[in-house]
Amino acid sequence: MNLARSALKEKGYYFTGDGHCRFCRRGIEWWVTPNDKTQPRDRVTLTPHAATCPAGKQRAKQQAPPKPQLKLPTAQPRRTRADDAFLREIGVDPS
Ligand SMILES: [Zn+2]
Repeated sequence: MNLARSALKEKGYYFTGDGHCRFCRRGIEWWVTPNDKTQPRDRVTLTPHAATCPAGKQRAKQQAPPKPQLKLPTAQPRRTRADDAFLREIGVDPS
């Protein structure tokens, strides 16, 4: 028996079936973690596939949220007639 396999089983993982990664098409094994989460692992080394999948990094990049665009004000807000009226009211010359 594969050493990694027995080590995983000792930790409480269990094997549920074979499969293929739908991103890189490599052979993987489906394992369930002690926390009851399904986890794809590389078929030979049994390392978590997320760490070795060549598509994984690319996907992470694609899923990263877009950077906020810093918008600089291009023009000062224009003063309206109402603003002018207000300025006159308070005794300021609007010109
Ligand atoms: Zn993959």
